[in-house]
Amino acid sequence: MTNFESLFETGLKFHGHKCPAMPMGLKAGLAAMKALGVERAQDKELSVISETGKGHAAGCFLDGIMTATGCTYGKSNIEKLYYNKLAFTLIDNTTGRSVRVSVKPDFLEGALNSPFVQQRKAGVPPQDIKPEVTDPLVNKIKGLDDAMFLDVGEVKTVEIKKGKGLFETRRCHSCGEVTFVNKLRVQPDGKIVCIGCSSYKE
Ligand SMILES: [Zn+2]
Ligand SMILES: [Zn+2]
Repeated sequence: MTNFESLFETGLKFHGHKCPAMPMGLKAGLAAMKALGVERAQDKELSVISETGKGHAAGCFLDGIMTATGCTYGKSNIEKLYYNKLAFTLIDNTTGRSVRVSVKPDFLEGALNSPFVQQRKAGVPPQDIKPEVTDPLVNKIKGLDDAMFLDVGEVKTVEIKKGKGLFETRRCHSCGEVTFVNKLRVQPDGKIVCIGCSSYKE
């Protein structure tokens, strides 16, 4: 199995359904990594600033980017700007080198007229769209040269803010749950509690 095929299988399991936007994100993530000459993040070696949002077609794109780059919501090395655009910036946190990758306008408009998207518009959930419709579109994306559908920008250097992970915890006085200390709050009676049990919102 090639690296791409193995990432595609991982992406498919993680994402939950077969669709054209996830492999588009996968290829876009790999193209950004190639432009920077970096490997998939094991921890926080890379960051993604994604311009995708929610409630629009093709948000699945970001799951492909996460699969390729190893930048994940849990590790917090991904940030969403909610610009509702299929574009993102990949940053190498070691060197500060960064690159913005976007889907070409003509290609994206064409993809949004595909039979897959027609069925989505008609209210069919992605997992219920027949393989005869989905598979040729997914295979087309898999076989596309990056230059056919992606714009890869100039590599630029950005400033990196460095911080260490926090390891110190304490139990909330009220619910007893273990909480990292930078989100504990002191109540008027002096008890130390978590955000959920406190009168504060953050
Ligand atoms: Zn999807
Ligand atoms: Zn609590």
